[in-house]
This record gives sequence, structure tokens and C-alpha cells, in this order.
Amino acid sequence: MERVYNFSAGPATLPIEVLQQAKDELLDWNNLGMSVMEISHRGKDYLAVAEESEANFRDLLTIPHNYKVLFLQGGARSQFAMVPMNLLGHKNTVDYLDSGIWSGLAIKEAERYAQVNIVASSKESKYTTIPERQAWQLNPQSAYFHYVDNETINGLEFPSVPEVGALTLVSDMSSNILSRPIDIPKFGLIYAGAQKNVGPAGLTIVIVNEALLGEALSITPSMFNYALHAKENSMYNTPPTFSWYVAGLTFKWLKAKGGVEALAKANATKSKKLYQCIDNNDFYYNSIAAHYRSRMNVVFSLKDESLNDQFLETATANGLANLKGHKLVGGMRASLYNAMPEEGVDCLISFMNDFSKRYG
Ligand code: PMP
Repeated sequence: MERVYNFSAGPATLPIEVLQQAKDELLDWNNLGMSVMEISHRGKDYLAVAEESEANFRDLLTIPHNYKVLFLQGGARSQFAMVPMNLLGHKNTVDYLDSGIWSGLAIKEAERYAQVNIVASSKESKYTTIPERQAWQLNPQSAYFHYVDNETINGLEFPSVPEVGALTLVSDMSSNILSRPIDIPKFGLIYAGAQKNVGPAGLTIVIVNEALLGEALSITPSMFNYALHAKENSMYNTPPTFSWYVAGLTFKWLKAKGGVEALAKANATKSKKLYQCIDNNDFYYNSIAAHYRSRMNVVFSLKDESLNDQFLETATANGLANLKGHKLVGGMRASLYNAMPEEGVDCLISFMNDFSKRYG
């Protein structure tokens, strides 16, 4: 079967060139007569993969030397616990912004370890907007401020980095890392599950300022301790070697594409086109406040919801896969990560226009 345009929110579509290379060298990698997934993570061949991928990642995001990059397991959900366990230190409270379902889940987990001050919430609006900055009740005594840069389920994204004074800024960038440049020095810590913009599931990347390491709560399991992972160069236990290797191929692909600046342009173009299609057609709608619409996860609904199944079936038959919205919000969602080419979005738009003519 031919490859389809896959709009899955994650695990998500990967660049075809990356998949092709992984396929070509699956059985015999680096002339070893073995797959990269069959060799020791401590041998010189794999260490070269680890070093090169980290160097490329640092280069792509201009990560300063005083920041560690960790390649971990456990998904972003483990970070919901690792962040408070490692950053609370001798303080009692932590600040969290509640701007979507993933924010809420991060808050629930942090509450197991710290007193959580919810600085503001847009839950009442059903997360169709991000609370305005003037309304945030920050606590300057908190150990850090946490927010989700892109809410994958609700389809909301921060247009710029929030200003939180002297508080340590912590962000979940699972669904938009590498989609645009990031001003790393503004952050204490950034984390991201890999399975959207980076590579296969199983890998979680953490970027952390070294100054924040070494204060983990005494109950912190060793596997949850950033300082330990940093000291061992992410080789404290066996890392997810294959996912890490594929992530390394994605980083090279990104560089060849012109880096995150070029990708940011492409991502802006893709999402703008799709929002225009939705806004210009009465058949569809999107309720997210315009300023906060995500470039990565475009949520939309059909005004006549009884046509949802028909829409999804016809889209699939036309090679447009995984457009169903998350079960908690319903409707549709088109994820437009880096690996989704503009042609994929053009096909989706043309399909949406045709479908509305036929059923509208
Ligand atoms: N945060 C965000 C913003 C996400 O999109 C996801 C996954 N969809 C998670 C956290 C949880 O990630 P994981 O399944 O890797 O734990």
C-alpha cells in the first residue's frame, strides 16, 4: 500500500527519508553486520550515535554549555513527577498554569509532592483560550513555574515565552519541540516526549540548566534523578537506543531542511492555510481564541456532527489518516508536525472543501 498522509497526534508521522534510512540500515548498521538495536549502548559505535545526535540537537536549538541534555525513558508523564521531585528542593510550593488537559494532568501529579499554586485556569472556557497574563497569581516563593507550551489535545499554543520574573521557567514542549527556535536561556527546564516531532515513542528529552541539579527529594527513585542521569551521560541504565538513533536521523534531516527557523516558516504556512480553510467555510468551525491557535494540532468540528463518521471514513479512503479528535474533546484534529509536508495539508484542504460541497 502507498503511504498515506498521517495526521496522528502521536506517535506521529516521521520524515520519509528518516524511515528509509532506518530501513536501509536495519540489518547491517555501520558495516557491523548487526542492527543498531542489537549493540551495546556502551560500545564505541553506539557512543558515537549518542554524541553526534546530542551535538546536532544542541546545534538546532542553540543550547548553551551550562545546560544538560538528557535522553531518558518514561514519556512526558514521568516528567510530571520528575520535575517536582527534582526541583522542589527546600521550598514548599510550585506554580502551575492550567491551560488544557495536559496542564491539568501535570498539576495532579505534582500535587503528590508539592503544594501546587494554580496561577490561573481556562478550564471554565473549556480550554478554548489561555488565561491572560495579567490575571496570573504568581507566587514568588515557588520553586518554579510550569506550563504546557502546546496543548496537544485542546489545540492551544503559546505564541511566545511567558514572562514570570525571577521564577524558574519549566515547560512541557512534547508536541512542539523543534517546530520553531526556543530561547533556551529563559528556561530552567524543558521536557518533551519524542513521539511527535522527534522520533519513535520510548524516548523523552530533557534540557536542564545544570544549576538546578543535585537537590532531588530524598524519596526520588534513582531512575527519576536528573543529576544521576546527567552524571552518566544518559547511560545510567540502558537508554532506548533505537528511538535515540532514529531521533538522531531526524536531527540530521532537520539540519538538511535548514534547521528550526526554516521549519518554523513551513509550520506557520501549513497551519495558516488550514485555519483559513476552516474559517472560510461555514461547514466547519474552530473555537480556539485566534491568538492561541496551535500550529501543531489544528482542532476543528463539523457543524453537523452527525456527519463525523462519514467525514472520517471518506478521509481515510482518500489517504488522509487519523483525523479523529481526542475522545475528551471530540470533533477532528489534524496534527501538522515537522514531518507533515505542505502537500499533505493541501490534500486535506482540498478534501475538506470537496466534502463540504457534497454534504453541505
Ligand atoms: N504532555 C503533552 C503536551 C502531550 O501531548 C503528551 C502526549 N500526548 C504527554 C504530555 C504525555 O506523554 P507520554 O505519553 O509520552 O507520557
